Amino acid sequence: MKCTPARRPAADPAGISGAGAPAEAPAECPLCPRLVAYRAANAKAEPSWFNGAVPSFGDQNARLLVVGLAPGRSGANRTGRPFTGDYAGELLYQTLLEFGFAQGVYKADPHDGLELRDAMITNAVRCAPPENKPTPAEIATCRMYFSARLSALPHLTVLLALGRIAHDQTLAALGLKKAHYPFAHGARHHLEGGRALYDSFHCSRYNTNTGRLTADMFRSVFVAIRREIDAG
Ligand code: SF4
Repeated sequence: MKCTPARRPAADPAGISGAGAPAEAPAECPLCPRLVAYRAANAKAEPSWFNGAVPSFGDQNARLLVVGLAPGRSGANRTGRPFTGDYAGELLYQTLLEFGFAQGVYKADPHDGLELRDAMITNAVRCAPPENKPTPAEIATCRMYFSARLSALPHLTVLLALGRIAHDQTLAALGLKKAHYPFAHGARHHLEGGRALYDSFHCSRYNTNTGRLTADMFRSVFVAIRREIDAG
């Protein structure tokens, strides 16, 4: 599938020091050597692709933040927009549209004009990892961007973690213990400040093909989120 990748965020030296990190990583972030090498290999093989740290997408005043794992090599890493261009995005964006968190038509293209409403999508790790598996060190290194992303959403009320790594990254960024907030599909965890963390199995093709996650299971999580946000 051909599409023009999204614009690449410019390098920001403040983002490379750790302290005071920006909410979005520079596309050429140098901090994870294995992922930098993977980006370079992908850029060599597919020079028209985005091949960088993929920025979050959505409404800066969002009450809902959807947290994915990491860009897929031929999905977000290709197009430059989270969950855009692979199967997981089909289910996620259709569900966001259905529940009023997006408007427009999702065409698997960062220039499709789709807009998120009261929602933002980000990833626990901003660069595509080989086999969709970031290492613990890479997850920890990228946490400064994730933490900054959380801090930069003034109206954030509900987080939706897609999978355990997103769940754990969220807890770590908030300084919370995993033992007190066990991951489970459909779980709602009460957080300080009146916020909530919901869990869902990741909407990957693997999970849907194996029946671990059905569209109805995914929708049921959004039913609860929509209700909570509307009640707020
Ligand atoms: S995964 Fe995060 S910390 Fe690592 S190189 Fe990419 S943007 Fe930088």
